[in-house]
Amino acid sequence: MTEKTNDTAAAIRKNGIATESNGGDKTGAESPASPPFSWGNNRRFNAYSDFLRKQYGFRLQKLSVNAGFSCPNRDGSKGRGGCVFCNNSAFNPSYCEPGKPIRNQLEEGKEFHAWRYRKSLKYIAYFQAFSNTYAPLEVLKKRYEEALSISDVVGLSIGTRPDCVNEEILDYLARLSEKHFVHLEMGIESCYDKSLQWMNRKHDFECARRAFAMAAERGISTGTHLIFGLPSQSREEDLRQADIISELPLQTLKLHQLQIIKDTSLEKEYALNPSKFHFFKIEEYIDFVIDFLERLSPSICMERFSGEAPPRFQAGPTFGMIRADKVIQIIEKRLEEHDTWQGKLRPRENSVIFANSF
Ligand code: SF4
Repeated sequence: MTEKTNDTAAAIRKNGIATESNGGDKTGAESPASPPFSWGNNRRFNAYSDFLRKQYGFRLQKLSVNAGFSCPNRDGSKGRGGCVFCNNSAFNPSYCEPGKPIRNQLEEGKEFHAWRYRKSLKYIAYFQAFSNTYAPLEVLKKRYEEALSISDVVGLSIGTRPDCVNEEILDYLARLSEKHFVHLEMGIESCYDKSLQWMNRKHDFECARRAFAMAAERGISTGTHLIFGLPSQSREEDLRQADIISELPLQTLKLHQLQIIKDTSLEKEYALNPSKFHFFKIEEYIDFVIDFLERLSPSICMERFSGEAPPRFQAGPTFGMIRADKVIQIIEKRLEEHDTWQGKLRPRENSVIFANSF
């Protein structure tokens, strides 16, 4: 177990969060004689949805909220243009308008999902659009606590940038997480400074490393995103990020293939220099993700494997009609065929299966 993992485990224990040691073979030498794997089931990757269901005993549905926050990379405090790929409209559900009260957004989201699943659900308010810790603490408290006051909303997932958290905010989130589910999603998209510069992120990887460490010290569950296929890094560099991410004290990961979204500076760049871009084809992407998973720590829960912005926002090559859930099915089948699994090529380590109690 690495020192960082030890620190995380200690912080997690401090908050009454469970740890679980390895039940599967992660040496890479041979198949586990008998699944379940270390994450407690027979699936060949550590799925976040399974973790949540196991931990809480019911399905937790995320409801997106646009709480009207801004972003330092848009309002001029760090930059004005935003990250090259960013168009928040591409993922904002229609019921999320910044002017609409948080209560109304969540009630409409609940109605939509209750109709879709036709059974009672518990919900996580997903503060998704822009940077949701980018405001004075009193403002943040008011908005988070409004979301938590809605019936059946049992927790928060808060999307932000690693340079938009500080000790005061993290101390508050640590207190909040003693009673509620709290997950802090700090997007980085790449572990390489040259790519962070190319994307116009206006923060470096060290900033992200610090933010994850500060959250882990307080026992706050965290996650991040990576984009594969950036023209600023090679496939080998894409892959090497599995090792880098595995050393961060985080609990969840979302993967995305590079997509060119309309009304972004990436769209302009692609129109000017299309030969600079080498997009993954679906089969190549599946093989790449399998290689990545084999190198990734088994303690990290996988929340997403591919992006799927609606077709009307796409301005470049896509996976066509293949939806994200189909991508997961293909990945699972391929893992089975190759008799491999998440973390197979990691050195043996004790896995820390996080749980956020409330
Ligand atoms: S991706 Fe996030 S950090 Fe970048 S400009 Fe958009 S809202 Fe800001």
